[in-house]
Order: sequence, then structure tokens, then C-alpha cells
Amino acid sequence: MNILLLGPPGAGKGTQARLLEERYGMVQISTGDMLRASIKNNEPLGREAKSYMDKGLLVPDDLMIRMIAIRIGEPDCAKGFILDGFPRTVAQAQALDRMLSAKKTKLNYVVELAVDDDRLVERISGRFTCGDCGEGYHDMFKPTKAPSVCDICGGTNLTRRADDNAETIKTRLSAYHEQTAPILPYYKAKGSLKIIDGMAPMDHVQTKLVQLLGLK
Ligand code: ADP
Ligand code: ADP
Ligand code: ZN
Repeated sequence: MNILLLGPPGAGKGTQARLLEERYGMVQISTGDMLRASIKNNEPLGREAKSYMDKGLLVPDDLMIRMIAIRIGEPDCAKGFILDGFPRTVAQAQALDRMLSAKKTKLNYVVELAVDDDRLVERISGRFTCGDCGEGYHDMFKPTKAPSVCDICGGTNLTRRADDNAETIKTRLSAYHEQTAPILPYYKAKGSLKIIDGMAPMDHVQTKLVQLLGLK
């Protein structure tokens, strides 16, 4: 089953994808995580992407399309995947369709997590992640049980993203509205777009998503 999670930065795509991954062993493909790993490893792709990411701008389509083509061709994706953060432009959506049809497969579910902009700022500014296991947290909505210790792995390497700051958030939201939101009508026209209220608590969103995907 191939799933696409759409929604603005901070909508909860990563959170929901990770829950599905844990519960159902699905494969999450987060282009943001892949880019951050590439920067950390000082790879050429990461070096090129960093200047855009630091400013809150989208990384050029050709780079992203090449990156995702390689990733979905890897063996663990053969049984399906959850896309989180790609596509982010109509050109990326079209390229993805071409890649999938060449593999004689398609997106089975396209789900938008709808959240108002004012709530997104709050979500993004409170976000932090365990640098060891990748678990996501939030200062208000999902704090760690013990201060500064990851609930999952016990690690203390909790990190905040460089681009999760007030200035960059504004640019990212504009990029979303100008460049990414136009892919919603693209999927709507194909009749495959489903919308979930992303403002509900995390577990409610997960329940709705699981229902929509026909899982138990
Ligand atoms: P995205 O991947 O769409 O950018 P995340 O999944 O990283 O978003 O979520 C952004 C922040 O909001 C995280 O700190 C996360 O813990 C928190 N969060 C996610 N979903 C919800 C929700 N339904 N209610 C409150 N906070 C949430
Ligand atoms: P969020 O979901 O919080 O917006 P991501 O982790 O998905 O953040 O993305 C972080 C940054 O990585 C984006 O602001 C952008 O610069 C870059 N990026 C990730 N995915 C894409 C993509 N598909 N196309 C262009 N840029 C991307
Ligand atoms: Zn951890």
C-alpha cells in the first residue's frame, strides 16, 4: 500500500507516519529527514540543499526528484511506503506519477492533514526530536515523561531543527501556500484526495487515519 500524507509544515505528517510505521511496520519516507541526514553526513546533495533549507525555501525539484527516485527503488519500498514531505510542487507530483506508473504501481491513498496556520507556528516552535532514535516530541503537546530524556530509548540527545525558528517558519508557510498547496487540486481532480482534521489530538488523528486506510 502506497500512502501520501500531505499538509503544511507542522501538520503532523511525521508524527502520523511514524505511528503507522511502529504499528504496522510500514516504511516512512521523509524527504526532510533524508535531507537532514545528507547534511549531517556532509554529502554533496546535503551541501546543495542546506542553503535552501536554512532559509525555509524549497530545494529545487530536480534534486528532490532524483533523491526520491532512488529511494522508492530500494527493496524495502517494494511492499509500499508512506510519503511524508514529497511531493511539494506540481512538478514533483507529476514526476512521482511517472515513476510509479513505470513500476506499475500508484498511490493508493492521498491524505491531507488540514491545520490552520496560527496553530502551525505553535506546533513548529515547540517541536523537538530525539537525535538517537528519531522520536518526535512537543514542549506542550507531547513532552518527554522525564525532563530531557527520550521516553523510547532513554537518550538525552534531544535536538531542535535549525529551521524551526519564527523567521523561517513564515517563509516555509508561504512556500507551502504558494508552491505546495496547488498539488491539492491536482490530487482532487484525480479523485484520490481525502481530508482529515489535523487539529484534533494526535491519537484522534491516528484513529481517523487508520479507519480511512482500512487498517485495524
Ligand atoms: P510535520 O511532519 O507535518 O512537519 P510533525 O509531525 O513534526 O509535523 O509535528 C509538528 C509538531 O507538532 C511536533 O512537535 C509534534 O509532536 C506536534 N504534533 C503533531 N501532531 C499533533 C497534534 N495532533 N496535536 C498537537 N501536536 C501535534
Ligand atoms: P516540515 O514538514 O516541517 O515542513 P520537512 O522536514 O518536510 O519539514 O522539510 C524541511 C525542509 O526540507 C523544507 O523546508 C525544504 O527546504 C526541504 N524539503 C523537504 N522535502 C522537500 C521537497 N519535497 N521539495 C523541496 N524541498 C523539500
Ligand atoms: Zn530516543
